[in-house]
This record gives sequence, structure tokens and C-alpha cells, in this order.
Amino acid sequence: MILGAIEAGGTKFVLAVGNEKGEITEKISIPTRNPEETMKEIHDFFKGKNIEALGIGCFGPLELNKDKEKYGFITSTPKLAWADYDILGNLRKNLGVPVEISTDVSGAALGEITFGDYKDEHTLLYITIGTGIGGGYVIDGKIHNGMLHPEMGHILMSRHPEDTFEGSCPYHGNCFEGMASGPANEKRTGMKGTEIPDDHKSFDYIASYIAEALMSYILVLSPTKIVLGGGVMGRTRMFPEIRRILSEKLNGYVKTDQLGDLLHYITEPSLGTESGIKGALALALMAE
Ligand code: ZN
Repeated sequence: MILGAIEAGGTKFVLAVGNEKGEITEKISIPTRNPEETMKEIHDFFKGKNIEALGIGCFGPLELNKDKEKYGFITSTPKLAWADYDILGNLRKNLGVPVEISTDVSGAALGEITFGDYKDEHTLLYITIGTGIGGGYVIDGKIHNGMLHPEMGHILMSRHPEDTFEGSCPYHGNCFEGMASGPANEKRTGMKGTEIPDDHKSFDYIASYIAEALMSYILVLSPTKIVLGGGVMGRTRMFPEIRRILSEKLNGYVKTDQLGDLLHYITEPSLGTESGIKGALALALMAE
């Protein structure tokens, strides 16, 4: 089966052709322009490739309630050219194949559980901590959406006692994204992300915020596997510190095999940087 996949981000779109085994045969990256120009490039890339279905993991917010008139629309994004844009409808019209859509991070969660090392997991939580922070949750092979898709990056944080940064979220100040995203730390330190050394004090705070968020997700969702991706997680000291602080915070309250083995419970994406695009292939398999 020939499948198309799109990972749509605010700065670039990754376009790929692959199959139902999660194998990618061709992949390109294009800069995100306005919808008309981007749609033309998507059309040109997939033309003649005989894809039978397409999956897209897209930046949001998105309307994902199939009962709503604006199902498949990008809604209130600050990327104004894309606000209130019917991306699902336009892709269906443009490519003439069934299309399935989800958020980029839910797509990554689906990619990990469908094509990664975590196929046997009953539930999987994928959190990305980078330019933004978001989470996707898959239960028995299905992405969890409700009233809308989860917005896990915006839960409130209790401030680290030594951190004086007020937080950068325009809506909440000191929410998870406002305290621990890459741009938040640039604002906190006054340095470019690439200039902040790994041993900078700010990463102590960020590890603590991530551990605090994970504690909430564990208590609310009880995931059987947690995968952490995104640029901030590329810092080598983050994983061990997050596991250590999380263990302290949980303080022995929840007793499970998984929490006894945090090394395997809280882990890196098994698909590396391809969780998102392979997740889009998994979405294509669900397209109707
Ligand atoms: Zn927020």
C-alpha cells in the first residue's frame, strides 16, 4: 500500500511517501509559507506517486470533532495566514484521496506505538518539549481526543524556589510551556538556545518542571509508557535528572513495575526524529 504522510509545523512541512509497514521511501522538507503556496508544493510532491491515502500530523489548534462543521480546520493559530483554514478539506480536494488528521504530537505518539519499539504498550504518552510543549495520548491504538485535543503544555507549574522568571505564556504566564519551552528559557536567560550550556542552572529548573508535569500526567492518565521528545530533551543531562526528581516527587506513593524502573518507563523516542512523520503514515492507515 502506498501512503502519503505530512508532518506540518510552523516553520517547515515534512512530506513523505511510505507504506503500511512504516517504511519511508521518499521524504522532503519545505518551508511553511502561506496555505496557497504550501498546498501547491504538496500537490507537486505527491503528483504521480499513486498514494492511496494520506495522514497529516499538524500544528494546532485544530478542530478534531467529526460532528463539527469545521472538522479538520486549523482554528485560532497566531500564524494568521493559516487561521480558520480548512487544511483537511483542501488536502482531500487537492490530492483526491482519503485523509486523516491529528495534532503533530498525537501523531508522534501514534507513530511510536504503531511502528516503534512500544507496540506492546496498552497506552503511550508522548510529550514534546521544544519550541512549544504538547502531549499526545494513545489508548489501545486510538488517539485520545475529547472536547478538543489535549493541551498538556499549559498545565500550571509551581515555581522552582530559585527561579525568578515570571513565565512566557501570553495566556497563563507560569504554565509548563511558559516555564520550560526553548523560547521560555531564552527569555529567562537572555541567551540564544544554542548558546546556553548544558550545565546552566536554568536546566535544573526545567528538569524540575518536566518532572512536576509528568507527575500530574502519571496521576491523571496512568500511562504505561512515557516518551519525551523535542529539542530541550536533546540536552544529555535531562533524562537522568527528570527521573531522579520525579521519583522524589512521587515519594513512593504509586507502586508499579513501571515506576520501579524509570529508565524504561520514561524514555526517548524509539523512532528518533521520525516519530511524527511515521505517525502520519499510521494516520494514513486510518483514513477514510
Ligand atoms: Zn499557557
